[in-house]
Amino acid sequence: MPAGAVVRVNLAATPYDITVRPGLMADVGSILTALAKSKKVAIVSDSRVGPLHRKALEASLTAAGFESTLATIPTGETYKTLEYLLPVYDQLLSAKIERSTTILALGGGVIGDMAGFAAATLLRGVPFVQIPTTLLAMVDASVGGKTGVNHAAGKNLIGAFHQPIAVLIDPTVLKTLPPRELCGGLAECIKHDCIRDADGFSALEQNIPRARALDMDYLTDLIAHNVAIKARVVEVDQFEKGERAHLNFGHTFGHAIETISRYEYSHGESVALGMTAAAYVSQKLGLIDADARARIAAVIEAAGLPSRGLKLDVEAVSSAMYFDKKVKDGRVRFVLLDRIGHAIIRDDVPPQLAREAVESLR
Ligand code: NAD
Repeated sequence: MPAGAVVRVNLAATPYDITVRPGLMADVGSILTALAKSKKVAIVSDSRVGPLHRKALEASLTAAGFESTLATIPTGETYKTLEYLLPVYDQLLSAKIERSTTILALGGGVIGDMAGFAAATLLRGVPFVQIPTTLLAMVDASVGGKTGVNHAAGKNLIGAFHQPIAVLIDPTVLKTLPPRELCGGLAECIKHDCIRDADGFSALEQNIPRARALDMDYLTDLIAHNVAIKARVVEVDQFEKGERAHLNFGHTFGHAIETISRYEYSHGESVALGMTAAAYVSQKLGLIDADARARIAAVIEAAGLPSRGLKLDVEAVSSAMYFDKKVKDGRVRFVLLDRIGHAIIRDDVPPQLAREAVESLR
C-alpha cells in the first residue's frame, strides 16, 4: 500500500495539514483524537455518498470514542442552496452542537462548500474537517477555505472564508465515483500544471491512463502534487485579491459554456473547453506556440474530456462571458499562459478574439 503524503498549508492564523493516503478513512478517528476539542462530531454528507462511505467513517470514529450525529443533503448542485442548508442547521442544533463540536464534510465539492459554510456560521464558527470524496474536491474544492451556497442570482454568491482544521483524503473512495466525475477532476489537475508546473504537466501527459485506471499509487502522488500547488497559491493570496485568480484558468470561458449549456456540459468538461479556448487566445497573442497549444488539447482529450465539438451558440457563449462575476469595469480578465507552467492575467483581449476562440471549439 502506498505510503501517502502530508502537505502543510502555511496560513499564519490557521495552518493545517492535508493528508493523502489510501485507507486513511479507517484512521480518521485516531487523527481527530489529536485535533478535535471534544468527542462530539457531526457528519454532513449527501444522499449518494453517505450510504457508500459513512459506515467506514463512523466505525473509525466509534473506535476512537467519538459520538457522532449525521445530517444528509440530497445529492447534486441543485441542492446547494440556503433552503437545503436550513434543515442541516436544525438538525445540528437539535443535536446540541457546541463550539467545540467538529463538523466533518464527507462528500464532493457541494458538501464541502455547504458543510464548510454551516461550520463558518453555526455558533459564529465551529471547526470543520474536509473528507473529500470526488477527485475535484480532493485536488481543488477542499483546499483553501472557500465555503458557500448558490443563489438564484448566481453560483456561490452567499459564502464565507473558513479554513478547515484538516483535510483527510482517502483515494480509495474514488473506486465508487462515476468515471465522468473522475475525468472532471482531471480537468483541475491539468489546470494546476498549466498555470504552475511544466514538469508536472509532462508527468501528467505520460500518466493520465494510470489515473483513469484508478492506480492508487499514482492517484496518491497526483492528489498530493495538486493539493501542494493549490496550497502554495492560497498561502500567498488567501482572500483572492491577486494571484489566486490564476486558478480561474479556463473558467471564464468555462462558466459561460456551463451556463449556456444549462449544465449539459459538466463543470470539468466546460473547464476543459475553456482551457482550450484560453490556449487559443494565448497562441493568437503570441504568448505560446502551436506546439504548446496542441499539447494542452491532447492532454485534455487523453483525460476523457472535450477540446472540441462544442454544440452551443457561439454568440451566446461569448456574451455570457461578459456577465461573469469576475468582470471588472466591463473588462473581462482572462487568465492566459505565456508558457506551459506559467499564467498571466490580461484584460485587453479583444472581444472579437474571444469570440473566435469560442468558434474554434466547434
Ligand atoms: P458534487 O459534490 O456534486 O459530487 C458529484 C457527484 O458525485 C454527486 O452526485 C455526489 O453524490 C457523487 N459522489 C461524490 N463522491 C462520490 C464517491 N466517492 N462515489 C460515488 N459518488 C460520489 O460535485 P464536485 O464536482 O465534487 O464539486 C462541485 C462543487 O464544488 C461545485 O459546487 C463548485 O462550486 C464547488 N467548488 C468549490 C471550490 C472551493 O474552492 N470551495 C473549488 C472548486 C469547486
